[in-house]
Amino acid sequence: MELNIHLPTLLLLSVTINLMVGGLLWLVYRLRDRQTCFRLWTLACVTFVAGSVLAGARTVVDAPFVTVLAAHLCLGLSPWLVLAGIHNLLGMPLAGGGRLSRILFACGVLYVAGLLVSYAGDALVPRLLTALWSALVFSVAIYRLASCARTPRLPFQILQTIFGIHGILMMLQVLVISTSKWDLVGLDVDAVLTLILTHHLMLATATVMALPLLAFTQAERSLKLLAERDELTQLLNRRAFLQQGIAAFEQARAQRNTLTVLMIDLDYFKEINDRWGHEIGDSVLSFVAKIMSEELRDGDIIGRIGGEEFSAVLNTGSYKEVEAVTERLLRKIAERGRWLDGRALNLSASIGGVAMSPQTQSFNDMMRLADSAMYQAKDKGRNRSSLLRCQAECRAWCATVARQTSACSRMQTDSGGRSH
Ligand code: GH3
Ligand code: MG
Ligand code: MG
Repeated sequence: MELNIHLPTLLLLSVTINLMVGGLLWLVYRLRDRQTCFRLWTLACVTFVAGSVLAGARTVVDAPFVTVLAAHLCLGLSPWLVLAGIHNLLGMPLAGGGRLSRILFACGVLYVAGLLVSYAGDALVPRLLTALWSALVFSVAIYRLASCARTPRLPFQILQTIFGIHGILMMLQVLVISTSKWDLVGLDVDAVLTLILTHHLMLATATVMALPLLAFTQAERSLKLLAERDELTQLLNRRAFLQQGIAAFEQARAQRNTLTVLMIDLDYFKEINDRWGHEIGDSVLSFVAKIMSEELRDGDIIGRIGGEEFSAVLNTGSYKEVEAVTERLLRKIAERGRWLDGRALNLSASIGGVAMSPQTQSFNDMMRLADSAMYQAKDKGRNRSSLLRCQAECRAWCATVARQTSACSRMQTDSGGRSH
């Protein structure tokens, strides 16, 4: 089958698309707080376009210094800029980032030296060097993307696939060029190289189009984290905790599973603030959040729902298990919080807990009951837990809480009535 690829048209198309995407990336860079990765990717587009134009000028200009050396330097710089942008976006250091960075730097030096030595000779050698260099950069990029544990994975996978295909294509080019001297399989080398170049241009264009996808999903992830997390403790804030708690409650009910809600309140915390200052109070809150994150399981939902109040949703309804968890929490807080930063703080907490039961019709019911149980622990002398154990007890509690709630709303209505 004869290949009918009109290379100048393809080149023109690729240059135009890269210029357009480069322009878009530069605009994004200007509009988004000048995020460095977008500047690097704009430069990647520009160098790719410059390299393609200079290499294309070979047919009309006989100046290998420009059409070979400068062209290949630009074409080699482009994937490196893409990699540099990915490093910047993911917060990884490009230089001094371990052995891989040193290897890449050494190969970059060898690549440039190779181009300097070979650019005036056989035109295939610079192509071979650029293909090898690009394949290496793509491999490093795949590795970096794979070693980053961030979500969502789809943009990572798209880029890894593009880089993977691109790397294989570059190695294929190396193979074709290095075996072309011996004409081993009777290949039409020019036709194959043209086909590879075609795919190379398309993949380069696909890369610059996929990069903003990665940047935007990562930006959205950061914003989501900011909106969901309590700044001081990095636990879920009240809103996100309630959202996730309600979802967990509904799921447990649908799957006939059970769960437990804990309410944890630090004892005499105001005294710590008054005696040692707010800054120490803040570090105590972070300390307790850390203990909770360490002591509870990965699937448990943990949040800071008020000043010195924390809450957790545990994936169990077993009284024994929950009792073990609360005892462990109380012990760790008391042991590790006896002295903190050389100050005798004698920390303690009171914990209330309730498991799902027919009486708990909503997540809010569970929160209310856990809160009441926590106040019962306070009343009994603090530094202890109070868990609603069985359905009968829970029913009695529900009745008490319902009476209190209706009494409270009656009082509010009464006072509201008086004020009018
Ligand atoms: P109890 O044992 O009855 O729970 O007493 P308490 O002193 O812990 O509770 P109280 O509700 O009287 O006081 C809570 C204090 O928590 C009052 C408030 O100044 C403090 N607080 C709330 N949010 C923060 C915060 O973000 N940082 C600091 N340092 N203190 C906070
Ligand atoms: Mg308190
Ligand atoms: Mg409180």
